Amino acid sequence: MSDLEGHHYYCSRCHNVSMEAIKHRKFFSLFWIPVVPIHLNKRLKCSICGAYRDLPKEEVKRMIAEKV
Ligand SMILES: [Zn+2]
Repeated sequence: MSDLEGHHYYCSRCHNVSMEAIKHRKFFSLFWIPVVPIHLNKRLKCSICGAYRDLPKEEVKRMIAEKV
């Protein structure tokens, strides 16, 4: 999945190739302290308009295969 990092992707909101893959973690919180990462996901964030969307694993694989 690290293949996605350092690449830019098309943003459907502002129509620039400005989306970057970022790591997105959700933690199980115990007394408001994040203790266990229960979910690791990839998220694309647009550096221009700030739009973001989550990437399911299947889509990450597809994007790497197609080299979007
Ligand atoms: Zn954008």
